[in-house]
Amino acid sequence: ETAPAFLSVWDMHSYYGESYIVQGISFNVHEGEILALLGRNGAGKTTTLRSIARLDNPQVSRGEIWLDHQPLHKMASHQAAAAGLGLVPEDRRIIPGLTVEENLELAQIAPPIGWSLDRLYELFPRLGERRKQEGVTLSGGEQQMLAIARALARDIKVLLLDEPYEGLAPVIVDEIEKTLRHIKEQGMTTIIVEQNAVRALQLADRAVILDTGSIVFDGSAAEVLENEQLRAEYLAI
Ligand code: ATP
Repeated sequence: ETAPAFLSVWDMHSYYGESYIVQGISFNVHEGEILALLGRNGAGKTTTLRSIARLDNPQVSRGEIWLDHQPLHKMASHQAAAAGLGLVPEDRRIIPGLTVEENLELAQIAPPIGWSLDRLYELFPRLGERRKQEGVTLSGGEQQMLAIARALARDIKVLLLDEPYEGLAPVIVDEIEKTLRHIKEQGMTTIIVEQNAVRALQLADRAVILDTGSIVFDGSAAEVLENEQLRAEYLAI
């Protein structure tokens, strides 16, 4: 008998109103691994992340979501967050009027506290240098770092990243990628949704590919990189 997966999505179906988007998907994420969730525009990647995070929209009509033996499918979003779900949304949601440090401290109000400020600044030296600067005045790359740091400031078990590289210069992507490897080395479990599929596959251990709300591939990231047909058909790379 194999141990249950750390994060397990089982037969999940999600709707926006009448629109049937996620059409019965099942996949596992093991503790400490990085999973790339890929697929063309509109395939349902963001909807999948939002469903796991239990946000009000979409509505999950069926299925189970388990995180470290906790039934996320029975929880509201704030309960899922308290259970260890760390979603970093595409728009980053940096809070205006607060400094870098205040954004991080606000995340640490809810116990149990995750990474300390010292540890976060060690991970992201740029944030340490700019700790007194208003968060929304940071560059796009720095805001992405702040959004990730803010998730880690809570005591999370899984990091869900929605398009973390979007709009960023390649050197900044390199820097964030290096940081994500470092976070993995500390034992974090991560799901990354990325249009930049090659970069995500270079980082990830495994990949799940979605096409119109269904899973068409679940396997090693290296296998996707080597499979030209799969890449062309579902990722256009
Ligand atoms: P992208 O890379 O373009 O964000 P994606 O794979 O993340 O693609 P989703 O954002 O999950 O795709 O969208 C899946 C489908 O759900 C799309 O057809 C989209 O138009 C639809 N959709 C997304 N958000 C909503 C919403 N709030 N209301 C209605 N339909 C939505």
